[in-house]
Amino acid sequence: MEPARIEVVGRGIEGEVEPGRRLGDVVKELGLRTVEYIPVVNGRVVTWEYMLRPGDRARLLPVVSGGAGCEICGEEAVYSYLGISLCRGHYIEYFEGKVLDTIREYSLIQPGEHVAVAVSGGKDSLSLLYLLNKYREDLGIEVTALLIDEGIKGYRDLTIEDFMRINRDLGVRYRVITYEEVFGHGLDEIIDIAREKGLPRYPCSYCGVFRRYLLNIGARIAGADVLATGHNLDDIVQTYVLNIVTNSLERILHLLPRTSGADHPLLVPRVKPFYRVLEMETTLYSVLMGLYPRFIECVYAPEALRNDVRNYVNELEERRPGTKYKIINSLEDLIKRYGPAVARIGSCRICGEPTSGDICRTCRYLDSLGLLENLLRWRSRIGLVEG
Ligand code: SF4
Ligand code: ZN
Repeated sequence: MEPARIEVVGRGIEGEVEPGRRLGDVVKELGLRTVEYIPVVNGRVVTWEYMLRPGDRARLLPVVSGGAGCEICGEEAVYSYLGISLCRGHYIEYFEGKVLDTIREYSLIQPGEHVAVAVSGGKDSLSLLYLLNKYREDLGIEVTALLIDEGIKGYRDLTIEDFMRINRDLGVRYRVITYEEVFGHGLDEIIDIAREKGLPRYPCSYCGVFRRYLLNIGARIAGADVLATGHNLDDIVQTYVLNIVTNSLERILHLLPRTSGADHPLLVPRVKPFYRVLEMETTLYSVLMGLYPRFIECVYAPEALRNDVRNYVNELEERRPGTKYKIINSLEDLIKRYGPAVARIGSCRICGEPTSGDICRTCRYLDSLGLLENLLRWRSRIGLVEG
């Protein structure tokens, strides 16, 4: 069986490990403390529960600089980046302050607004929900958690448990919308129907289009003024680089921390309060706040090109710390120079939802699957007006 490879960055430790072992156990055997590292396998952050598989490439990124103390109080540091070391308490202050500054600097959320937080069950969206809920009085906002249950066995049924547990602890109002109730089938069944009909699309094409559609409607049903997502700086940098590779300038000019909703009365503006925080920082925050969920990968997750871009950018960052900030600065300069993309948004001829075409992609996909009637029935059942 092909072994897994493990590398402890900054310690010169590299070697092979037998698959089937828990990553946390391997690390303990190496005499390392798990709190001092962020575990990354094949370019994705995982938990210490992760079971190594043949051919895996595990890398442990240090979050503590060789015993350095916190810049501010001298306590043991849990975070070190670009020459700044911080202890637990000061790191939390730094992280939350950075997010609150991003909200103010980019005018993402105004006092009096109701924010729907799109929760995927991952560490970023759970951290965002936690943080916005913690500061809801200071910001003068209302918060609702919004989760779309796609109906993916072995993934969503498990992540929804983490969502419910954390939500219960926080006491946040929440709403779950399922593909099943809207389309009559969960994603697993939709993929079967698509295969039977010989349709060429990948699972993620359906999933992404349907989820965006339902998040927008869900935010409206919740009475929200804005929809907040947990995209962090790494996500945006990866999307930027991906769009360079695929020569999609138009999409690059959409990569703003706040997308306007003014173009259509049914389009809820989207905001990204983690626009300026690194994935490593959201990971550390989620670990310190006890929000880190189990690592469960979607059974359909492919994203081969995105994984390559993620690995490439992470390697660059390691060799030249600060690279990710430079890339996001270049993105902002580009948008300033060319202006944000202005999409002409009209109404779907079938359902009335915002779309840049004549018929929205959700209606087109559902029509090809023979499921359009289910959507229209659901819409009229919950009182959504058709176009
Ligand atoms: Fe949906 Fe694809 Fe993400 Fe799975 S990996 S949740 S199918 S978009
Ligand atoms: Zn439509």
